[in-house]
Amino acid sequence: MGGSMVGNGTPTGTASGNGGGVTRLTLLAPLDGWATPLDEVPDPVFAQRMMGEGLALDPTGATLRAPCDGVVLTIHRARHAVTLRADCGVEILMHVGLETVALGGRGFTVHVAEGALVRAGDALIDFDMDLLAREAKSLLTPLIVAGGPAATVVEARTGAPVRAGEVLLTLLVQGDGAASAAAGERTPGERTQSAEQSVVLPLVHGLHARPSAVLAAAAKPYAAAVFLAAQGRRANAKSAVAAMSLGLRHGDALTVLAEGEDAAAAVAAVATAIAAGLGETPVAPSEALPVPSLPSAAVPPHDEPPALEAQPPFAPGETAVIRAVTAAPGLALGRAFRLQEEEVEVPAGGLGADAERQALAAALDRVRVRLAAAVAHAEETRQTQRRDIFQAHLAILDDPDLLDEAQAAIAGGEAAGSAWRAATDRSAAALRALGNPRMAERAADLIDLRRQVMLALAGREPQPVILPQGAILVAEELMPSQLSNLDAGRLAGFCTARGGPTSHVAILAASMGVPALVAGGAAVLRIPDDAPLILDADRGLLHVQPPADDLAKLERETARRKVVAEANLKAAAADCVMADGTRIEVYTNVGKVADAVKGVAKGAEGCGLLRTEFLFLDRQTAPDEDEQAAQYQAVATALAGRPLIIRTLDVGGDKPLPYLPLPREENPILGLRGVRIGLRRPEILRTQLRAILRVRPVGQCRIMVPMVATLDEVRAVRDMLDHEREALGHAPPVQLGVMVETPAAAVTADQLATEADFLSIGTNDLTQYVLAMDRGNPDLAARLDALHPAVLRLIRQTAEGAAKHGRWVGVCGALASDPAAAPLLVGLGVTELSATPPTIPDIKAALRPLDKAACVALATEALAQESAAAVRSLLARTGLAVAITEGAA
Ligand code: PEP
Ligand code: MG
Repeated sequence: MGGSMVGNGTPTGTASGNGGGVTRLTLLAPLDGWATPLDEVPDPVFAQRMMGEGLALDPTGATLRAPCDGVVLTIHRARHAVTLRADCGVEILMHVGLETVALGGRGFTVHVAEGALVRAGDALIDFDMDLLAREAKSLLTPLIVAGGPAATVVEARTGAPVRAGEVLLTLLVQGDGAASAAAGERTPGERTQSAEQSVVLPLVHGLHARPSAVLAAAAKPYAAAVFLAAQGRRANAKSAVAAMSLGLRHGDALTVLAEGEDAAAAVAAVATAIAAGLGETPVAPSEALPVPSLPSAAVPPHDEPPALEAQPPFAPGETAVIRAVTAAPGLALGRAFRLQEEEVEVPAGGLGADAERQALAAALDRVRVRLAAAVAHAEETRQTQRRDIFQAHLAILDDPDLLDEAQAAIAGGEAAGSAWRAATDRSAAALRALGNPRMAERAADLIDLRRQVMLALAGREPQPVILPQGAILVAEELMPSQLSNLDAGRLAGFCTARGGPTSHVAILAASMGVPALVAGGAAVLRIPDDAPLILDADRGLLHVQPPADDLAKLERETARRKVVAEANLKAAAADCVMADGTRIEVYTNVGKVADAVKGVAKGAEGCGLLRTEFLFLDRQTAPDEDEQAAQYQAVATALAGRPLIIRTLDVGGDKPLPYLPLPREENPILGLRGVRIGLRRPEILRTQLRAILRVRPVGQCRIMVPMVATLDEVRAVRDMLDHEREALGHAPPVQLGVMVETPAAAVTADQLATEADFLSIGTNDLTQYVLAMDRGNPDLAARLDALHPAVLRLIRQTAEGAAKHGRWVGVCGALASDPAAAPLLVGLGVTELSATPPTIPDIKAALRPLDKAACVALATEALAQESAAAVRSLLARTGLAVAITEGAA
């Protein structure tokens, strides 16, 4: 136990020492907890004092406080570690829990910014003890004297419970603090030799505390001064704290420099230690990089998307057709209703940081309550997509980075409104900067939350928009909260100038059954209020002020489609057998258990594509074999014995998974995707295969491999499957199919069919690769048409190749969900279509009255067309699908 200490956490006096002055520094307990010697910390970096002297606390309280007055030197990006420099120059590291860097910031809320002056007892970091207890190696929190002038621990209170604020540690600090504080950064006097070497940081979690300590230990034995230089900054490599403060990330380039008589040896030793991983397993930057949920402050801001060019409104009676991207299919007639974005004026502030902080907290609470109510309502009404979106919004609202950033701005004198606006704008800009269209679409969610919190700060509630009956909403951009507040009964459809087909607004529109177009460009803003419109979301067209004849025709067509749809649904449960007896299996695509239920209700005869990655999207950790088996079993059970084709994990490219670090690649769409990841990380694929093999009844599941380009890949998966079957006690054989998504797979289908039991064409990716157009790029979406003759020729080639070996061919890409294309696909040799649930009744109805021969003739003609548009008009001209569905009605 400590003796004669004065507990205000400041240097409490000086005494004479060896030459210079000696300062006494008292450190107060930063936590409630049990004080423990460092030797008991199960981590050699701390236990062996590689970072410095100190002790550890086993927390019973969840707030880390400043142990003395000082300045905050660094807060680790993962928010689990903080260093302070006391007024006397001593640097103190506090590291909450062990190996907590891997949490990536989850469970931590930081109350101070780097550079902030703090007083002893000020709250620095709050942490979630339950989460740490579950997910961290240990809660033990080392407090280390990690740098600055030489300091000796003269009293340490260990082996006892302590309360935050009680005296914990007393140090005698050599020399004049201010002068010593800078010593770590001092350049050497004598420079007899210099050397340098460039390296790339191979640490997945960046240069955090533990590797920094190993690095400092590697540098210390040398007389030379050793530095790390990166991104225009330089730090003393012998100081773990200084090295850490560079904030280096995985893959960052840095230079090791040394000056002094043994400079070359020092550089070699430090560079070698870095390359060896500084105590962690080195991972080359091309092998792993975490995918952020929200980008951190280090991502450079990206400009707002360019403003749309202002153009005069369409004149009364002026007709126009605007081409846009389908977000949700359907046809609607109605009148334009322009949604104007109102400016939200927020109080200018000036009430002081505490009041502004409270105002922000209250506004966040109001929005939180509203979102929680929306989640509960969606849950009650079983609107799962709506529930998931609002849950995601709640999570964004609690994002610690956003909150930290806003709090730091408030601490710097900003008003709550401008602090929140700046934080959300920066995060939205950083999302856009990632260069991934899906991530960029998430920016709209942030802007939505920006607006909602600003409204709450202004003391206003979002006003419901009163729509006229049958309104087609036109807007520059629509936010999820705006759409969900609209009266769906009055909304006939919408078209936005911006936005993308995979945005939350698009998903909401589809779940509400509202036809929707996005990315229509500046022309959308030219539409006057109340203008008559035909929104043909099936074809991606918005007709503005169409001639009266067209309107009348469309009105009749809409009424007809309704009658036809009802009749088709009634007949949907029966198998799909064509007039000449040809059997076509119409299956459904599934991303979650509910889709299987929906699909069966719409007449699905099985599942032709279970996108397994969708089952585990919201997780931070990989699902284990048991969890996977349970999910696959749930889908199998929902299908009540119908066949279930499970696609192995298809991540990479446009499909990031939070729990699976993926490489940052120049061309992710051409990079590590689908089966390539499965073969590179075989443990992931093997676990999945084992989970699939456990599904009962035996024989219901088939396995399908995504993104195959070569026969070797199929053979490798077959070997793994055989091995796992054997390991499970000779499990019965399972069909193994291949997705045809690359031109290579289509062209070599005859070879793949020697190994594969079936082939299923993923027209989404196949079209992307054949046309060399990124499927996530809204600017290309209008031209990314799977009916392009080049794609159709590859579909035929696939079917011919498979037929040589008696294998069947299906289509599970979006083209299979287009009833008009069904006869064409059958004519090309496809015998299975896996579609979205709502389209199944129409597909079956389109095919039943047809002969296969008529479909083959149609296909032959389609293959000779010169463009996708020509194929579309051929389908419309021959009118097979339309005539048939009319007949069914
Ligand atoms: C496809 O590419 O057509 C396909 C079905 O796979 P996904 O859309 O999941 O990439
Ligand atoms: Mg695909």
